[in-house]
Amino acid sequence: VVASHNAGKVREIFALLSPFGVVVKGAAELGLAEPEETGETFADNAALKARAAALASKCYALADDSGLAVEALGGAPGIYSARWGGEQRDFALAMKKVQTLLVQLHKRDYGAKFVCALALSDPAGNTEIFEGEVHGHLEFPPRGAHGFGYDPIFVAKGMTETFGEIAPEAKHAISHLAKAFEKFARAVLGAA
Ligand code: IMP
Repeated sequence: VVASHNAGKVREIFALLSPFGVVVKGAAELGLAEPEETGETFADNAALKARAAALASKCYALADDSGLAVEALGGAPGIYSARWGGEQRDFALAMKKVQTLLVQLHKRDYGAKFVCALALSDPAGNTEIFEGEVHGHLEFPPRGAHGFGYDPIFVAKGMTETFGEIAPEAKHAISHLAKAFEKFARAVLGAA
């Protein structure tokens, strides 16, 4: 079970799993409840989502929790990345909030990273975590229409374009989710 109710994320994880010949279902498809994300770290939140889905479905469950961590903001928005967009998940607003804070605090260093924690739970609720990060910096104003969330302000190390400007395949090759998934696939699915 891919323990997410976000259709885009379920699709992305289905695609990553497809070469491995496992049968996958989304949490919404199975009518599973969505637990509240009460953890204090990406790993905690991924684990509580995976564990809840595994216990309810009696299947192996995979969940992710991810977000943007800005160095000069002490890692914010971090686990609150989605919530900074408000009820409407308005990321133009969330990106503006990040910029305003950096300016108000007179920060010159815009170093940031995307972090992803993937949690795998077995049907008994035993959980293992795989983490991936992509490092870079922020640039304002936002640029590019690809991707989602904070992509239009994030420039990965060695690049000049934002994640909103580069082709989705280029992002997926180096993303935090790709890196976490690679670790998971090597450890669990026997990938090379
Ligand atoms: P989650 O779905 O609760 O893990 O929240 C993830 C949030 O972090 C998303 O709503 C985005 O705002 C942000 N985020 C995570 N990964 C990315 C990414 O690859 N690009 C842009 N924003 C991201």
